[in-house]
Order: sequence, then C-alpha cells, then structure tokens
Amino acid sequence: MPNPIFASLPTTIFEVMSSLSRELGAVNLGQGFPDEPGPLAIREAAARACIDGPNQYPSMLGLAELRQAVADHYNRTQGLDLDWAREVTVTSGATEALAAAFLGLIEPGDEVVVIQPVYDAYLPMIRRAGGVPKLISLTPPHWRLTREALESVFSERTRIVALNNPLNPAAVAFAEEDLALLAEFCVRYDAIAVCDEVWEQVVFAPHKHRPLIAFPGMRERCVKIGSAGKMFALTGWKIGFLCAAPALTQALAKTHQFLTFTTPPNLQAAIAFGLDNSADWFAQMPIDLARSRDRLSAGLTAEGFKVLESQGTYFLNIDLPASGIAEDDASFCMRAIKEHGVASIPVSSFYEQGAVSSIVRVCFPKADATLDAGIERLGQARAAVV
Ligand code: PMP
Ligand code: GLN
Repeated sequence: MPNPIFASLPTTIFEVMSSLSRELGAVNLGQGFPDEPGPLAIREAAARACIDGPNQYPSMLGLAELRQAVADHYNRTQGLDLDWAREVTVTSGATEALAAAFLGLIEPGDEVVVIQPVYDAYLPMIRRAGGVPKLISLTPPHWRLTREALESVFSERTRIVALNNPLNPAAVAFAEEDLALLAEFCVRYDAIAVCDEVWEQVVFAPHKHRPLIAFPGMRERCVKIGSAGKMFALTGWKIGFLCAAPALTQALAKTHQFLTFTTPPNLQAAIAFGLDNSADWFAQMPIDLARSRDRLSAGLTAEGFKVLESQGTYFLNIDLPASGIAEDDASFCMRAIKEHGVASIPVSSFYEQGAVSSIVRVCFPKADATLDAGIERLGQARAAVV
C-alpha cells in the first residue's frame, strides 16, 4: 500500500506553471527566478573553486569562511551579533533550513502558528514533523497582522510560529508594529519563531527589512533563515543559512546532519567571497529590480489592471476585481497561460483555508522584452473577459 500522505502531496504550483510554460512556449512570469545569470565575480569564484577545491566533504556545519562571512554580513546589514562558530549553520537552500527547523523543533502534537498566505513547503513539512498547524490569514491590500488574529491561535500548546518576512507572495516587508506584536506573543507563550527571511535583501526603498531576532526577548527564541540564492540572484545554487542561539543551533545541526549533512563546498566558498565583496551589488540590485517592477506595474496599469504595492521580493500582485475581472485567480491564470501564452501564479495556492482568490502574482526580474511581452499577453487575457 502506498503511504496515503505521500500519495496526496500536491505538485507545487511553481512546477505546474513552469512545466506548462516550457510545453506551451509561454512567457514565464510565474515561478520566481531572474533572467540575469547572477554576479560574474561570484560565478568565477565558484568555477575556480571547482578546479582548485574545496571539493570534498566540509564540516557538517559548513565552511568556516562562509559561516564567518554570514555573521559579518548580518552584522553590517542588520546590526546582529551572531557568533559564527556557535550560531550559524550552512544548509542546502532555505528549503532544507526550513525542514531542519520543523523536523528538529516540532514534537508530535505541538501547535504551529502559520500565517497565510503561506509558502508551499511549510504545511507539508510541519505535518510530517507531527505538528498541528493553526492558521491565520492576512488579506490584501495591506496584509497586516492583528492582535485579534494572533489571540485566536496562540495558546499554551503553541511551540512554533512560522514567519516569512518579507512575505512571498504578498510582497510586503512587515511593519515594525506587526513584528513587535508577534514578538510579544512569542515571549508570552514561550514559542520559537522560525523566520524565513530569504527576501531580506530584496526590499525596495523606502521600505526596510527588520529581522524578528532583533526584537526584545527574541534573540534566544528565533531561527533566522537566509538564502544566497535570493541574495545573489542565483536561485539554483541552494545555499541557505540557519542562524540561531547555540542551544537551538545544536538541535538544528543534528537534524541537518541527517537531511543532507553538507552542501557543495565550492559553492559555499564562492558565496563567502560574494558576501565579503558585494556592498555594490547589495546597493544596486534592489534599484535595478525596482526599475523592472515599475516597468511591469506601469505596463499593466496601462492595460487596465489594478496592481498592489510591491515593497520587496521578485513579485507584483494584480487585483482581479479591481481590474474589472470577475474570474477567480486560478481560472484567470489557467486561461492566461493556455489561451494567451503567459504564466502567472494564483495567490489562492498559498492558502489552505479561506483562500483569497482575487489576486494574481507576477514575477518581474526579467528582461524588458520579456516583461513587455508578458504585459501584452496579460492585457489580451483581460480584454477577453472585460
Ligand atoms: N522560502 C520562501 C518564502 C521562498 O520564496 C523560497 C524560494 N523562492 C524559499 C523559501 C526557498 O529558498 P531556497 O531556494 O534557498 O531553498
Ligand atoms: N520561491 C519561488 C517562488 O515563489 C519558487 C521556488 C520553487 O519553485 N520551489 O516562485
């Protein structure tokens, strides 16, 4: 008998849309990856490391030089004081970091507060770890956390809260008040926050990323997760970071040792080089992305769409009803790809209960010509029903 839980796992919407795009030759504004190949100096450093090494198993915690570079980077950019030797673990992408956190920290029956819209990997992993998800929902256009919502789910049984900030797909960087509220609940209920901050460098001025670990009472109860893939537009590299106080790091590292044990050392060396030498990249990348965001936003607005503010991430959201479209998001996205050759992501895929089904996510780190073709095709998809 096949395991019924495995058999029931869905294929992620990102894979569904990217496969359909390849099959139909569509313009792919669905899955979040940039057109650009990533910084040349970092790719050259990786190529050199493939030739000269290191190429054998590194320490299971990751290369010392990378762990040090991660701690230094967060010190420079977020004012954090991480001890690289006891508080930083390198993982195979943020996805593995999330798995290590959920599998390592959840005991069967523990309650886990989960904020919808929720990234697709969280709920299957939380359930596999035996956790009981307690869902709250944020809604457009502002996607704010409220005391009322937190009060409805936090209890003495709460062990973990899973936070994604900046939030994919909402494209918001949580406001200071919302994070302070969440920190207050974590402290009151003695909960650990698993903070998926993979989009921390992709935040557009005047908005700012504020790490939850820096809030009062959170230093010892946060697992901060980062991803070099998002920092350097190298999404396929899958180099992630787990940062947490020593007691948490010990539990996380033990889980990581049985998931992947280590991560390719040559790529780790190249990311260490990148973190130590990329002040210009971190300053320029959000400016370039904001330009693409604005091009997509202006083009879609000219086609009659209403778009929501994008404060960070690679994504911009379209409000269907405000754009005069009566269809739900999943129907719009399927029609747009099958009949008009453009892939997008229905935001309802990020909800398990009470889905918001009026919002469509599009990805903008693309060449101008790709964005323009996407705008034209989305415009045709709108014109066919308005
Ligand atoms: N969390 C979020 C919110 C993401 O958007 C992504 C990928 N875009 C990941 C985790 C996965 O990151 P990685 O590719 O480093 O595993
Ligand atoms: N995080 C990417 C997105 O939101 C997708 C990554 C994946 O396909 N797993 O589009």
